[in-house]
Amino acid sequence: MSRPGRALRPTPALVLPAAVAALLAAFAAGPARAARMFSLSLDDVANGRAEVVDLTHDLKEGIPLFPGGIPFTLEPLTQLADGYYMNSFVSGEHTGTHLDAPAHFGKGLPAVDELPPTRLVSQGILIDVQSKAAANPDYVLTLVDLQDWEKANGRIAARTLVILNTGWHQRWENPDRYLNRDESGALHFPGFSAEAVRHLVKERDVNGIGIDTASVDPGKSATFDAHKAVLQGGRYQVENLDNLNLLPVRGFGVVVAPMKISRGSGAPARVLAIVPR
Ligand SMILES: [Zn+2]
Repeated sequence: MSRPGRALRPTPALVLPAAVAALLAAFAAGPARAARMFSLSLDDVANGRAEVVDLTHDLKEGIPLFPGGIPFTLEPLTQLADGYYMNSFVSGEHTGTHLDAPAHFGKGLPAVDELPPTRLVSQGILIDVQSKAAANPDYVLTLVDLQDWEKANGRIAARTLVILNTGWHQRWENPDRYLNRDESGALHFPGFSAEAVRHLVKERDVNGIGIDTASVDPGKSATFDAHKAVLQGGRYQVENLDNLNLLPVRGFGVVVAPMKISRGSGAPARVLAIVPR
């Protein structure tokens, strides 16, 4: 997934040797090279060498909703007894697992239908802050956290989707615990610092960022600085991700597929990770 076009290579017989050679070279060169040389092909999914992990929550009634959001509702239109089964639905653009497009926070910036499809297919990395977030629900990812991650795992490659595992996806079925309001109504869940996001956009050229909370900013933020840093930088973010405990630290691919709402500020998205077994 690291090079555009590679996943659709028409000569499957050549893919495995190339992948193995790349892997061996990567191991020989140490962690920094390994992060750069990661490669997967669609053949790996078909032949069982990689699995597809769904990072998407079910869209249904009663799911946690950021204040001001529109709940998802499903209305039956017909049943099989009528000839075929069909529903209509109502949903906010930012309901459930969803993508925020740059237009959400920037005048003249791309809406969800204008994001280049190649930017929706990324290498993935995972930064685990579960223990820090458990100790402090207002925890924000810092520049030092990013430097520590790179020391252990190698430099973050261009066109990466940087995913933060806060552990909050495990609270999803309990909206009160997920949004974690205090007595004054303020939300408390972890997020990214704007400084860390600016570094990822400007110095690492990432495709975007993702998180398993209702916002990339910490819940208590009133200024949405991390939103501004990523969206006004022309990148996107994915919120309310699921199943992050099934991902490795690096070496996987991610496909983010938002509904193509014309001029949409964002959209519910199916997010799939392709993970080597
Ligand atoms: Zn959003």
